Amino acid sequence: MNSNDNTSRQPLPSLTRGVGGGSSTSRQPLPSLTGGAGGGSFGSCLFIDRDGTILQEPADEQIDSFEKFHFVPGVISALRFIRQHTDYRFVMVSNQDGLGTDSYPEAYFWPTHNLMLEILAGEGVTFDDILIDRSFPEDNLPTRKPGTAMLTAYTNGACDLSRSYVIGDRHTDAQLATNLGCKALILGDDMDWEKITGIVYAGQRTATVKRTTRETDIDITLNLDGTGKNTISTGLGFFDHMLEQIAKHGSIDLDIRVRGDLHVDEHHTIEDTALALGEALLKALGDKRGIERYGFSAGSGSADALPTTVTAESLVPSATYTLPMDDCLCSVALDFGGRPWLVWDAEFHRERVGEMPTEMFLHFFKSLSDAARMNLNIKAEGQNEHHKIEGIFKALARAIRMAVCRDIHHMQLPSSKGVL
Ligand SMILES: [Mg+2]
Repeated sequence: MNSNDNTSRQPLPSLTRGVGGGSSTSRQPLPSLTGGAGGGSFGSCLFIDRDGTILQEPADEQIDSFEKFHFVPGVISALRFIRQHTDYRFVMVSNQDGLGTDSYPEAYFWPTHNLMLEILAGEGVTFDDILIDRSFPEDNLPTRKPGTAMLTAYTNGACDLSRSYVIGDRHTDAQLATNLGCKALILGDDMDWEKITGIVYAGQRTATVKRTTRETDIDITLNLDGTGKNTISTGLGFFDHMLEQIAKHGSIDLDIRVRGDLHVDEHHTIEDTALALGEALLKALGDKRGIERYGFSAGSGSADALPTTVTAESLVPSATYTLPMDDCLCSVALDFGGRPWLVWDAEFHRERVGEMPTEMFLHFFKSLSDAARMNLNIKAEGQNEHHKIEGIFKALARAIRMAVCRDIHHMQLPSSKGVL
């Protein structure tokens, strides 16, 4: 069994761009892709998975009837927007276990596959290339994702892989991206098609900050369009736990490594981390075009309930903009308007929570506000000191998440001054 027996490149010719003749079940490669890139350049590509990414994947992982045919929410409008506003090459890459064998006859595959292509084409979404591997997992063929043997036309220099993405729903899609040398966008709790559209269209907002003094040595990497992945090490366990809340509830990928003079005390470590984190936020926001700018904690629901794109309707208050944590009620509102200001209305009566002096709470947020050049208004009430400060950090994360939301349909600066 060789790879040509297990891959398909040919969808309906009428639904692809610049494709010659052939039947829907042809295994011949597209003319434009034979013999490598043919001297042409594909530019940047989107390698898009099918099942679980475009179509919802059924429990038996086989879309072989119209009863199992359902689009993933948001995918059609997302692909339509990306198609209309970018010049990415669209490449569908799919494993279809045993397609063409008794376990998955082709007659059960093509009707729904072709209907999917027809519906998408009706919305202006066409694929430049469709690559289907037909092997079984146990065949271990290099054409099967996450292998790249089916994508040799894109790995010979014709595609700008550093600016390309794999869009999928599984670990194997992420691994494919690694194998190709491009980035991965994996659908999940903190990554939907709306967010993917914003990233593909306007880029990921990332920043790296290194801050070294005689008192501290700090490295921070931040991605405002992340999913909450974090690695945090400051030498102060409770402080790590608080910073983790910003990542998790802000849906921000955050890597913070701090080597501070803890043999003196905690002051420099906490203050300088706030300054570096604020600088990273400011840097990642860039020119701030399209962002919501204002943020506030939005009630006690799941962070996942927050919209990835804020609209006027979603900003209509439906509850008090506060975050409860057991006995405590915490409120954070912020403005990435370019000016630092801190309003702090929270009292702490213990000297420490964990290794963190409570007097440093105010100092942390003042330094953060200064470096990020944001207004920060914080209020908290309650009895339990741990709950109170954790509620503040969670509310801050929610507020940041809301304020950095981008409306890709209106990429203007949210200021009448013309600058933030
Ligand atoms: Mg999939």
